[in-house]
Amino acid sequence: MIKSGKEYVESLRALSPVVYAFGERIKSVADYPLFAPHVNAAAMTYELANHPEFEDILRAKSHLTGDVINRFTHVHQSVDDLVKKVRMMRLLGQKTGTCFQRCVGLDALNGIYLTSYDIDKKYQTEYHQRFKKYLKFVQEKDLMLAGAMSDPKGDRSLRPSEQEDKDLYLRVVEKKKEGIIVRGAKAHITGTVNSHEIICMPTRTMTEDDKDYALALAVPIDAQGVTLIFGRQTNDTRRLDGELDAGNAKYGIVGGEALIVFDDVFVPWERVFMCGEYDFTTELVETFAGYHRSNYGGCKVGISDVVIGAAALVAESNGVEKAHHIRDNLTEMILLAETCWSCSLACSYEGYKTPSGAYTINPLLANVVKLNITRLNYEWMRLAQDIAGGIIITLPSEKDYRDKDVGRYVEKYFKGKEGFSTEERIRLYRLIENLAVGAGLPEAMHGAGSPAAQKIMIGRRGNIEEKKKLARVVSGIKEDIYFQKIVGMKEKEYFAQILRA
Ligand code: SF4
Repeated sequence: MIKSGKEYVESLRALSPVVYAFGERIKSVADYPLFAPHVNAAAMTYELANHPEFEDILRAKSHLTGDVINRFTHVHQSVDDLVKKVRMMRLLGQKTGTCFQRCVGLDALNGIYLTSYDIDKKYQTEYHQRFKKYLKFVQEKDLMLAGAMSDPKGDRSLRPSEQEDKDLYLRVVEKKKEGIIVRGAKAHITGTVNSHEIICMPTRTMTEDDKDYALALAVPIDAQGVTLIFGRQTNDTRRLDGELDAGNAKYGIVGGEALIVFDDVFVPWERVFMCGEYDFTTELVETFAGYHRSNYGGCKVGISDVVIGAAALVAESNGVEKAHHIRDNLTEMILLAETCWSCSLACSYEGYKTPSGAYTINPLLANVVKLNITRLNYEWMRLAQDIAGGIIITLPSEKDYRDKDVGRYVEKYFKGKEGFSTEERIRLYRLIENLAVGAGLPEAMHGAGSPAAQKIMIGRRGNIEEKKKLARVVSGIKEDIYFQKIVGMKEKEYFAQILRA
């Protein structure tokens, strides 16, 4: 089935997760005003799949059933699928100007698909078959999954099993005939409160001592023992103050993250996809991280399209759109963003088939995408601030703008060039404030792993030994067989001949 945006929102009303936010228990996620922008942004991943102009990007054919499904539930079957995925990310970034959250679950599905296949091959387990059944269920119901990787981690110099509090990484505390009991938490998990399911993966490489922590599993969002505690964001309560001050009142600001507590949660075996196979934790972590890092040149670049547009419009509304420095800044923003987009396309086009039959991205280039985003996203947002000016942090509130006594002053003194109303200008400035000053910046830094994690992967995959070999050949330390073919003799003879001439 392919749900519409409205059907997705409606489907949340049928669930009863235990959610806390701002010190209260939230009765209905779909009806809580502070969650509304996050719900709307996620709903866009459903809605666009129902419009013919986006179907090629937002829909895919299930390799399990042959049915047409939402691409957010698809396991990539070709390079074309990988490319369409990042196109989908850019499109949704353009339509929402924020994080639409659903990609983490998509990447978890793909990461576990590959890894469960490899575990079964080594240990003759049945994780992959189980996982395929689960995937079919997700595709048939068009579900949104919260991909949960990060554990709280406690003292980071200690391994999971060495922590004083053993629950600081999600772990299995009991194995039963029908399933397992898990305890612990996952932290900073995007889109959780408005997901249908939670899909968990280990957060790091585990050793034999940590095998109770080597877990991949899925639970319904309202499984017994699961508690969600919503995180605060910059200016989040502005949503309650009207439409203008939030900057992006419809879709919010970044993904809406939560702490997920697992208080002795029962997980039936059919929903367990790794349990103790610590030697596959690296594969799962790296595969998932590669998929997710490859997205950032899509979603963040889609958002950059919005902020570049907003910056160009405020420049026009100030009558400075032809000034050299404005044009230069806008061009620079485009250059930076398209560089990241090129990286996302490249790591998708360089993707390849895995033993499971599914496709994965080029992991080196995926880490390059994300590391670039941790830097260049700040740079294009800095340029947006430069173009917009300090007004983005000094504008009066919407309440003053609407006030019967002082509203006319705001109207009069914040007017710009003919053709733009004061309200339009306020909307644009607030949008830039939301995008260039808010929580989106650290999200670009730390989402999908911090810069150090990408550097480790780039260092590992960069193949410096191969580069040393190249340097040895070009510098003449090692034999250059192709050069010898060109000149028709050994290098030493060739240079001796030059000296004699
Ligand atoms: Fe998707 Fe980007 Fe949000 Fe990650 S940060 S969940 S890739 S929109």
